[in-house]
Amino acid sequence: MLKRIDLTRDYRAHQEEYLDAIRKVCEETAFSGGKYADLFDQEFAAYCNMPYAAGVNNGTTALHCAMLALGIGEGDEVIVPANTYIATAWGVSYTGATPVFVDCTADTWEIDPDKIEEKITEKTRAIIGVHLYGQPFEVNRVKAIARKHNLYVVEDCAQSHGALYEGKIAGSLVDMGCFSFYPGKNLYAFGEGGSVTCHKKEHYDAITVLKNQGCQTRYYHDVIGYNYRLEGIQGAVLSVSLKYLPEWTRRRQEIGERYIREITNPLFTMQAHPENTTPVYHLFVVTVEDPEHFLAYMAEREIECNRHYPVPCHLQKAYAHLGYQEGDCPNAEYLASHCATLPLFPEMTEEEVELVIKACNEYKGE
Ligand SMILES: *Cc1c(COP(=O)(O)O)cnc(C)c1O
Repeated sequence: MLKRIDLTRDYRAHQEEYLDAIRKVCEETAFSGGKYADLFDQEFAAYCNMPYAAGVNNGTTALHCAMLALGIGEGDEVIVPANTYIATAWGVSYTGATPVFVDCTADTWEIDPDKIEEKITEKTRAIIGVHLYGQPFEVNRVKAIARKHNLYVVEDCAQSHGALYEGKIAGSLVDMGCFSFYPGKNLYAFGEGGSVTCHKKEHYDAITVLKNQGCQTRYYHDVIGYNYRLEGIQGAVLSVSLKYLPEWTRRRQEIGERYIREITNPLFTMQAHPENTTPVYHLFVVTVEDPEHFLAYMAEREIECNRHYPVPCHLQKAYAHLGYQEGDCPNAEYLASHCATLPLFPEMTEEEVELVIKACNEYKGE
């Protein structure tokens, strides 16, 4: 069975290096935050071409910290795309603010700038854009709307490490970037991890205090804080992986571009990739009439596929109290009911890539 993603191959290829890095942390007992977490923060900030990166314990808390550092809380509203992993909205909800869901475009599947302004009220404080599946959203148009209405913009970069928008790297494009290093993301920890990139020292300082139990000086708590620190072992592992990220990204792009060129079956629709973007193919999602039928067909051919994501955020039970109805975000709803994700990870062999292409091209639907 070809898995949708197989992390064992990376581990096997770089086992010694990873274990050496972990051993060092153990020998120095630099387990929570500490030297290796800090070192990774510096390397990751440099990678993102940013002055600051604050490592945290996952991508969801990265989003929570970003909202808190911008002063967002009870009574505020934050614009969020309807089609994203639910954690984009969690960070907003944790502060007591309300996520306001906006539909995506029919072709890029990214937040639709034409549908943002109608959702802005006097309570709106920020827009979170998501570079979904590794494809940057329309940053310039979203920034122009934010400027006009005096809003912050945060980019959810959990799927877009290294993606470019007009030559600039994800994480550097707006006020703050939120990253996840969950296993399976383009850059991943051996457990959980995340980071917030920012331009302003005041934002970085606020997040550093928040993630560290609300203190600057140990045992003196200035604000109600959280235990959101990045673990030392994760920092050390991420420093090893970060060296390979450019290589992994190139390979993801090679495979993604091959799928685009060689999967010619008209039963599939692919994500549109605008000229001014360089996607990093975190997930290769297609739409197809009956995704469950397609997944079963692929499984018969020993190819594992899955779905990102079967339910859009505005129709999740957790947000039923917000009162959204089916039909509120038609493009996101179409995507949710038709999406299927093909295998794509850097260690795939050419034979495996060809197997996927052939299976897709021979698919006849029902
Ligand atoms: C993975 C992901 C998150 C959450 O990250 P975790 O590290 O799993 O908490 C947030 N947003 C998006 C778009 C994601 O894909």
